[in-house]
Amino acid sequence: MKIFRSKKTLHDYVERQKEMGKKIGFAPTMGALHRGHISLYEAAAKENDLVFSSIFVNPTQFNNAGDLEKYPRNIENDLKMLEESAFVDAVYIPEVSDLYPDGLKSKTYDFEGLENEMEGKFRPGHFDGVGTVVEELLRQVKPDNAYFGEKDFQQLAIIKKLVQKLQLPVKIHGVKIYREENGLAMSSRNERLSPDQRKAAKVIHETLLKVNDWFRVLTLPEINLRVKDIFEDQRGMVLEYFQIADENTLKETDFFYRGHDYRAFIVVFVNDVRLIDNIHLD
Ligand code: AMP
Repeated sequence: MKIFRSKKTLHDYVERQKEMGKKIGFAPTMGALHRGHISLYEAAAKENDLVFSSIFVNPTQFNNAGDLEKYPRNIENDLKMLEESAFVDAVYIPEVSDLYPDGLKSKTYDFEGLENEMEGKFRPGHFDGVGTVVEELLRQVKPDNAYFGEKDFQQLAIIKKLVQKLQLPVKIHGVKIYREENGLAMSSRNERLSPDQRKAAKVIHETLLKVNDWFRVLTLPEINLRVKDIFEDQRGMVLEYFQIADENTLKETDFFYRGHDYRAFIVVFVNDVRLIDNIHLD
């Protein structure tokens, strides 16, 4: 597996591969890798000649300095995981100046309202930070296909919009949420949970499965109330938001309209660890 620690060496390699007509698949990460990340590379390896990873903890997408500081980092372990997976051919570990030559600041994007829903409300500036880093990474790695997890479903929608608006020559693919055995969505943040908290946090996915059963049987206010009640009974957990939204607009729905796809979104704090999950409703 090749490792590139500068934009210049990456650029030369990418250009050579492009000249040879190699199809590149890419999935960016912030490191602290787990099996969920590897599932992106597994998908990429099926459809591309070369698979690229990147590891960069992007400061501009953190609206909370403490969260950025506590974000787990373990590059040696990450490289070992990527190597052992055998799906990844090259990994880019840029310096801040490779991605932000003019200093650490975000561009401002218009994602046609997608950025104002859910995470946009609770994490101001987050999606401008994500857009800025992903746009730059896509311009540098020049993939034919890029893979993003459905765990961050709103981010996936926003990146599709970014690529469409900027007409970047890349196809964006969503990859299903990879879960721990107890159903908890895998996340780098899970490392910050104690074993007991990790067990208890399975209630998040269990709640989403219940919501899927209640969908079309109960009314929306009834579902919202039941979800609230579940988390009021969980010690050490605080429900930040729960909402059922139209999958295309990401707007909270007031009613289930025929012919629309819906998805339930949830964010729960387990002490100070912010966990996110969602489920397609069928
Ligand atoms: P992150 O390192 O958290 O920025 O995530 C990098 C990419 O991996 C994003 O596209 C995430 O949506 C994706 N990802 C993270 N966790 C999972 C998971 N459990 N299942 C599928 N994709 C994931």
